[in-house]
Amino acid sequence: MSCTEKSNKYWSYDNPSEWSKHFPSANGLCQSPININTIDTIPKFYSPFIFSSKYNSDELFILSNNDQQIITTLAKCTNEQNTNELWFTGSDLNGRFYFVNFHMHWGRNDKHGSEHEINGHRFPAEAHFVHKNYDNGQIVVLAFLFTIDNNEHSEWEKYANVASQLIKTHDRTTCIFNLNRLMQVKDREFFRYIGSLTTPPCTEGVIWTIFSHEIPIKEESLNLLRQNIMQKAYRPVQPLNDRTIFRNYEYSKMI
Ligand SMILES: [Zn+2]
Repeated sequence: MSCTEKSNKYWSYDNPSEWSKHFPSANGLCQSPININTIDTIPKFYSPFIFSSKYNSDELFILSNNDQQIITTLAKCTNEQNTNELWFTGSDLNGRFYFVNFHMHWGRNDKHGSEHEINGHRFPAEAHFVHKNYDNGQIVVLAFLFTIDNNEHSEWEKYANVASQLIKTHDRTTCIFNLNRLMQVKDREFFRYIGSLTTPPCTEGVIWTIFSHEIPIKEESLNLLRQNIMQKAYRPVQPLNDRTIFRNYEYSKMI
């Protein structure tokens, strides 16, 4: 996930193994992303997600190229302290988590691009919807994996068309999106673990929720992003170490 813009000149996706020279947290024991071995995950009951009604309405967003990623923020939210009407509660998380930004990670071709892997499988892209509880600073990321499929939702087609026009650093534009149509959460299965930001400063203590159902996206859409802005925008998987990964479903449903 993305962090502060001022960090950008010290890192690039060409050398993620050297990020720790400037950002010591990148060498921590609880880093993200990770590979999720489903057989090692622990089942757990979670209360439902409750999203505010604004997730279901068309909202104006600002997309900006920060040299490493395209970051999409709510247009009427002028600074971090300004909470907005896009928030969720539930899923055994304490308090309200306000929308901060969403962005996407992808690779040079369809064989890679996601940050998280499931059973060693890489996906062509991964989207992160970053949320924050401003009472205690807790960051929660809702992550979605993609699969190449022509049955793409028009909302993602719109995103690819608009984002791919932001060719130069600091290029920005506005666009209307509906977050529910982008995220497609519904009653989906997910994994939950504690990790870190996946971009410098790689701060730990981030709560990750990775939805296992893949979102369809056309290869043409990913090609627009790869060819026009960044060929590669993801961090490789990091050691799991002693961490536990939970899942919100029973194994019987996997067979
Ligand atoms: Zn991210």
